[in-house]
Amino acid sequence: MTLALSDARSIVHAVHTQEASAREVTGKALRAMGTVEPRLRAFLCAFEAEALRAADLVDARVEAGERPALAGVPVAIKDNICLGPDLMKVGDGRGYGGATTAGSRILRGYRSPFTATAAQRLIDAGAIVLGKTNLDEFGMGSSTEHSAFGVTRNPWDTSRVPGGSSGGSAAAVAAGVCPISLGSDTGGSIRQPAAHCGVVGLKPTYGRVSRLGLVAYASSLDQVGPIAANVADAALCLRVIAGHDAGDATSAREPVPDYEESLRGACDGLVIGVPGQARSSANDPELTDAFEASLHVLRGLGAEVVSVDMPMLDHAIAAYYVLAPAEASSNLARYDGVRYGQRAGLSAGEGLRDLYERSRSEGFGDEVKRRIMLGTYALSGGYYDHYYATATRVRGLLRDAFGRALATCGVIATPATPGPAFPIGGKTADPLAMYLEDVYTVGVNLAGLPAVSVPMGMARRDAKPLPLGLQLIGAPFQEASLLRVAAMFERARGPLGHGPEVRAT
Ligand code: GLN
Repeated sequence: MTLALSDARSIVHAVHTQEASAREVTGKALRAMGTVEPRLRAFLCAFEAEALRAADLVDARVEAGERPALAGVPVAIKDNICLGPDLMKVGDGRGYGGATTAGSRILRGYRSPFTATAAQRLIDAGAIVLGKTNLDEFGMGSSTEHSAFGVTRNPWDTSRVPGGSSGGSAAAVAAGVCPISLGSDTGGSIRQPAAHCGVVGLKPTYGRVSRLGLVAYASSLDQVGPIAANVADAALCLRVIAGHDAGDATSAREPVPDYEESLRGACDGLVIGVPGQARSSANDPELTDAFEASLHVLRGLGAEVVSVDMPMLDHAIAAYYVLAPAEASSNLARYDGVRYGQRAGLSAGEGLRDLYERSRSEGFGDEVKRRIMLGTYALSGGYYDHYYATATRVRGLLRDAFGRALATCGVIATPATPGPAFPIGGKTADPLAMYLEDVYTVGVNLAGLPAVSVPMGMARRDAKPLPLGLQLIGAPFQEASLLRVAAMFERARGPLGHGPEVRAT
């Protein structure tokens, strides 16, 4: 079987026509995982036996005449998205039980009683879950270095980070283990790792995809979305996971269009707005060149590129790093070692306060503790108005600014990140430098908009090519037109001309 694991649609076609069985595809994906994993550590656990069993079920459905939308497509799921007990495998030899950890020691031993809606929809559509992928603890980070279970490496250069927090999901797709994975994006965690790994990442409109079963980081910003090898596969995945879910009160009732169908079309008449910040002198010079070249490609497709003035964007990072930690401090209060969270042992004479303190001190990593402290401070009496209320006002103004810009432009374009993937350890000592990785992505979450990152070119470091991402931002529920522009750009841009250093063949 010569099927590429980097193309979900070919896999679906082959499985539907029975040219290949889901079992064969799954076997191939598991072998691919075995080849690249020792160098990448993208997965926290693998479901070998379960995946093969699930593949047999898909083959039986096809045999019975069904044509599931993702028949036999291997997928990876970020480990802050819950899978129920039937999908778990305890003890995979890596000290991890196969449950949902969100990259945190505090959730060690946690068993989710149910499967997240987005994951369940993939499974129902015939996708095969290979395993759970590594992430920054609770999604807090931009490098996957803040995982309690080790660092994931970038397939393009294993001395570099894959981005984060969905670093494992992006690395798995980039390394050719599976064409599609699920990530979550609170401030850039789908788009930034997709950019650093040379794959496509889509953060849907807030409410487009159910958050039921997603471990909460900052609930008003979190969205589940696809990371995929190409734009069409991202569209295919989004069609399956999007749509109303009674289990998530913020899930939208907006109808789900056929995103793949809408990939066909033209850019003629499209106005693309570029905010001044997109051309910051702080950007990597090769990224600046790649961004200008991308705008040139878009013009060649018939789009008009105009400058848009959005001074509020300058305040996005500051507002985000007040609001996200504030929500996190409240969401993470549940991990007290009593109802949720690994319980610390107590010595004689110690009481409930000691239990809380010990459990949380042992269970949370440094970055999560930093966020809890920042958030608690911003919410505390006397500071609430100054920090939380001000950030909330900035959020409103930012939403208005995007609304105005998107009333005249169909799409807003920026780089996805200020530069290529950075070396492991390069920013861990400087949290602010790490936060600035999100300078182009967090505003989109604050405004609740959809945005996609699509590979736009390469930078070079130590003679190694490193991918760069173009971010396209759209109006609420305009994923279809975003994906169309991204697909046209992807085609016009042509192949990246390089492959990652670590890639399954
Ligand atoms: N890097 C950002 C943060 O640390 C965004 C993370 C995310 O989107 N989950 O908050």
